[in-house]
Amino acid sequence: MTECEENLPVTLDWVRNQEKAELHVHLLGAIRPSTALEIAANNSIPFPISEERKWIPFFTRGDLAHFVEGFISLFEIIKTAEDLHRVVLEAAEDWANDGITYSEPRVTVTSHVARGLEADSLLSILKASRLEARRRFGIEIQWMVDFPRILGSETGWQALEIATKGMNSGIVGFDIAGYEGSLELDSEWRLLFQEAKTKGLRTTAHSGEIGSAAHVRAAVEDWGVERIGHGTRAVEDETVMDLLLTKNIPIEVNPTCNVLLGNVDSLGSHPLEVFRKRGIPITLNTDDPSLFGISLSEEIYRTAHQFGWDRQVTQSVIANGWRYRFNQPG
Ligand SMILES: [Zn+2]
Repeated sequence: MTECEENLPVTLDWVRNQEKAELHVHLLGAIRPSTALEIAANNSIPFPISEERKWIPFFTRGDLAHFVEGFISLFEIIKTAEDLHRVVLEAAEDWANDGITYSEPRVTVTSHVARGLEADSLLSILKASRLEARRRFGIEIQWMVDFPRILGSETGWQALEIATKGMNSGIVGFDIAGYEGSLELDSEWRLLFQEAKTKGLRTTAHSGEIGSAAHVRAAVEDWGVERIGHGTRAVEDETVMDLLLTKNIPIEVNPTCNVLLGNVDSLGSHPLEVFRKRGIPITLNTDDPSLFGISLSEEIYRTAHQFGWDRQVTQSVIANGWRYRFNQPG
């Protein structure tokens, strides 16, 4: 970027034209509303809403608890590997059209297996669909396996087993999501994450989303995760922010998600700018582009506009997506 270009305003078109990597997105959170309703009808599964215009209000009608409830209804409609294949390819097309050329979508494999999909066929469709996405849309997908911590450690170990088995299917990382319980319970996850790292998986954790800064500290110090998802509560403890800074742990920030689910009051009061100014690496992400009605480009554009970022600052945040990705060749 020349000095002259740096001074030009950040526009949505400019952001769209930047090659972007998204490090925090949930596959089913990227499902097209029309596809979800069609798959539900094809599989004769009742879905809580029947009209596309009610889609976003349905998912953003309350807090994280309501959101998770809505998200579970998405797992219910996916009955076959073909359903999942369609979701991946359409999401990949949408990402590519938004200028995303690298993505690390979360797949909650245990939730699919619990609803009848076989792990082996799930892994083979993940492998095939990422190769097809690369060929058709020029996007590199590296899968992340996550699991809801509320389902307990047995589900966590099952998720890790599938993730490990899927490392030659493009699974590159391991994540824990959902409600953050007491810190005593959090210690249960230490062994799980240690084992994930031993197996060669990269690690991140939804942490400090609704929990506390202490949760973020535990994820970094006890479990040894390499990135933090959300992490908004880290702002409440200077020593935790110092920890992230000195260990160079990036935060996968999801501004729209945090605002719509009430974890922060507004975009303007989001701590992402505190983190950035302190030198903690941040990346911008959508979490669930379809459910929140926002693309990654829009997410970046709105954030840049809100905090008065110029092109250089915006580009540095985009570059963090590339710097901190869990890439593996193949
Ligand atoms: Zn998430």
